[in-house]
Amino acid sequence: MKCPYCKGEMHEEFLDYVVEMEDGQKLRLEEVPTWVCEKCDYTEIEEEVGEAIEDMLDHLDTVEAGGDEEE
Ligand SMILES: [Zn+2]
Repeated sequence: MKCPYCKGEMHEEFLDYVVEMEDGQKLRLEEVPTWVCEKCDYTEIEEEVGEAIEDMLDHLDTVEAGGDEEE
């Protein structure tokens, strides 16, 4: 994979990824497969991984709604 900005080589690393949710809450995910440009430090997560995270966030909403009832 090449960097879309500088065309440098990109390699995959497992990095923390912070997702900001619609209500402004931030969720920190650990060891997310991320492409990192060796030249300009541009990072990009894989499309599949991004979709998986979105699915997970949808699921989290459901879990939180259920949790409220217990309090
Ligand atoms: Zn780059």
